[in-house]
Amino acid sequence: MSQLPPTLQCHILDTGYCLVWEHHLIQGGQRRQIACHSLAALLCHPRHGWLLWDTGYAPRMLDVTEHFPFSLYRRATPLHLDPALSVAAQLRRWQLRAGDIQRIIISHFHADHIAGLRDFPEAAFIASEAAYNDIASRRGLRALLRAFIPALLPDDFTRRATLLPAFTGQPLLALGATHDLFGDGSLLLVSLPGHARGQMGLLAHTERGRILFAADGCWLRRSIYERRPPSHLSNLVVDDARAVRATINRLHDFAQACGDVVTIPSHCPEAFAQEVEAEHDKS
Ligand SMILES: [Zn+2]
Ligand SMILES: [Zn+2]
Repeated sequence: MSQLPPTLQCHILDTGYCLVWEHHLIQGGQRRQIACHSLAALLCHPRHGWLLWDTGYAPRMLDVTEHFPFSLYRRATPLHLDPALSVAAQLRRWQLRAGDIQRIIISHFHADHIAGLRDFPEAAFIASEAAYNDIASRRGLRALLRAFIPALLPDDFTRRATLLPAFTGQPLLALGATHDLFGDGSLLLVSLPGHARGQMGLLAHTERGRILFAADGCWLRRSIYERRPPSHLSNLVVDDARAVRATINRLHDFAQACGDVVTIPSHCPEAFAQEVEAEHDKS
């Protein structure tokens, strides 16, 4: 591309956390529980307006996990939520309303990434076709096995969704084919298979440089630095354990080659400390 892509405003939002054993998140991790926040991002494109990368948790997570079998979800990941942390509530910091959000990009359909979707009745959704097809008809235990809670999906989801087929755009080093969302190079979607069927990552050209939103391609940045995968136990809940390791290696190779890019996995405590806590301290 001859022209530099436009840059987006970018704000990283914490939507709450659950406690997880570190040695489950990464091989060689300690036997201690750590807070895994669910991060979302609020972005503003100079021509296409406001959009979200995922919506993280929202208070309705507590309602939809009240009864069996979804109560097992809450038992597996004890939730610490605060209504003030829902993305919809946080928009007030920028004098925005839910209706100002034009689009929501959904990395994958795990409950901790889509719990806020119903707060945005006018937004269009962008997701991968493979991710949606994998969960669309699942109910009850079959949904829970995919960490998917059907009640979180808006009733008119398919009417508002653009489902992307396998990407065929200009490849990114190590990460492979892309989908250029606005055709201007500012937001490039990439495929991050393994953790969940059809999972996407997003390389965003922001006012503070390039950011790779890695979703759950790994849980901790340390996995990328050290090419260290999650514990074998986590293989029970992922779509394809071999692809999880391959994706971590690809994220490693990309990070090595592109030292300017900040990688933000959705639940990494180090990313939370740098992107959310440090920003609060400044303001
Ligand atoms: Zn996930
Ligand atoms: Zn997640």
